[in-house]
Amino acid sequence: MEPYFTLNNNVKIPSVGFGTWQTPDGDAALNAIKTAVQNGYRHIDTAAIYANEKGVGMGIKACGIERKELFVTSKVWNTERGYESTLKAFEKSLKDLQLDYLDLYLIHWPAAAHQFDNWQQINSDTWRAMEKLYTEGKIRAIGVSNFLEHHLEPLLAKAKVSPAVNQIEYHPGCMQQNCVQFCADHNILVQGWSPLGRGKVLDHKMLQEIAQKYHKTVAQLCIRWALQNDVLPLPKSSTPHRIRENFDIFDFEISASDIASINQLEDLGRSGLHPDTIEF
Ligand code: NDP
Repeated sequence: MEPYFTLNNNVKIPSVGFGTWQTPDGDAALNAIKTAVQNGYRHIDTAAIYANEKGVGMGIKACGIERKELFVTSKVWNTERGYESTLKAFEKSLKDLQLDYLDLYLIHWPAAAHQFDNWQQINSDTWRAMEKLYTEGKIRAIGVSNFLEHHLEPLLAKAKVSPAVNQIEYHPGCMQQNCVQFCADHNILVQGWSPLGRGKVLDHKMLQEIAQKYHKTVAQLCIRWALQNDVLPLPKSSTPHRIRENFDIFDFEISASDIASINQLEDLGRSGLHPDTIEF
């Protein structure tokens, strides 16, 4: 298996990203990033709303790896949607991260019909700002997060640059197959958030039995399973031994029949966050 995916603009993206939601700012973020990079991760996922971009940026500076070897993602938050405010939000993220470019910038959640009559226009305006930043070379790739097919269709109809990525919830028992298929059909890479179901799927008996066959933990099974389904997983941990464990997934392969069994699991421990019902 390649250690990276290739995006629709030919940019290479390391195939396991390091999640940082709920990683506290400051030393905690700095140490998490250093530990992750020391253990092989080259891809870091943060967002303005995680309120840890300063600590993540300190970790990037302190990790001992050249900036160009790392792949850094951030996201524009819901209160900053629209053309001008997205441009400003991007500059703030860049400043907080102490970087002069981002590898990937995402619209964190779509504006949606339950909150805005003009939701399509809002998403298009936000996207125009992303396209401007991309065209100016300040971001190597642009994408979206939590967009379902009906959010993507109107965006694609007006976009000059097609999204390279859609970051959605993805773990055993939550495969969002229609959205994943739509993305595959449109050459959009799916990144999986909460690839461990925030820990909720780790006690599942069948997953434990399959993991044991490969002498791996359920967390490692979940991460490898996402990759074998062509989804880029973003496991988060602040615990050094788990950070290491979650990257130790390149030395085994799950059989086609075990992949099929995991794909058939019932709905397991989803977050409940849905773009058409969220209140934020
Ligand atoms: P994960 O599925 O990655 O689970 C993280 C939780 O599992 C933490 O409590 C962590 O604990 C624990 N954990 C991690 N590794 C192990 C292990 N090997 N064994 C046991 N427990 C483990 O959930 P997240 O919700 O954090 O999602 C991952 C990333 O996806 C986020 O950090 C963020 O970057 C992104 N994300 C994006 C969203 C979006 O809207 N675009 C929404 C949600 C997440 P501990 O840290 O204490 O080790």
